[in-house]
Amino acid sequence: MENEYLVGRSIHSVLPVPADRVGVSGEHLKIRVSDDGRWHLEDLNSANGTYIRDDNGEFHRVYSKDITENDIIRLGNKGANSYTFMARRVKAPEDTYYHEFKQLKKLVARQKEEEAEKEKRIEINGWISRVAGLAVIGICALIGSISGVDIDPNTRYILIACAPVVVGLLFSGDPKKLKALRQRRSKIMLCPKCWKPISEYDVEYGQCSRCKAK
Ligand SMILES: [Zn+2]
Repeated sequence: MENEYLVGRSIHSVLPVPADRVGVSGEHLKIRVSDDGRWHLEDLNSANGTYIRDDNGEFHRVYSKDITENDIIRLGNKGANSYTFMARRVKAPEDTYYHEFKQLKKLVARQKEEEAEKEKRIEINGWISRVAGLAVIGICALIGSISGVDIDPNTRYILIACAPVVVGLLFSGDPKKLKALRQRRSKIMLCPKCWKPISEYDVEYGQCSRCKAK
């Protein structure tokens, strides 16, 4: 057996989509939940499409797709005319936002962890770059003492000067990745009800200070 949930601006919608969300069709989508816990989404040829958010906070258009109860779904194009919700709400429209905040907390924790990791790598890279020149001097001396071959002073200077640059290039992807991570933060740190930016305090506390959802 399975249950079917209609979402849209129609009076038959299980979720109360406000009338001013004109980007949402009357019968926008259907979500089917089977007894064994499988969730499936079906766009009902909506005018402005159905979108699902990925791990990076980017929305992608979907037509017919297996989903999970924690997927974030947007009806219509980005902006005030659309309607966004976590899939599980179709089963519990009147529920508090406790579950959504719990998921958000996990997401933000992972986000902070990844940012901290990148920041650490960038800091370490800075130190390695700073000592790279010294390392080259050491290596030249070592080669000299082992093989008896003296490295030409000009070559040595070039190596010393280039070492930090080479190290920098090896790690050059990190600042870019950190920037992308910080951009992701702004896409996921949103209230699960009003979808406006939310503070870390609000996430921790489990309540949106704008719309009071909790
Ligand atoms: Zn809110």
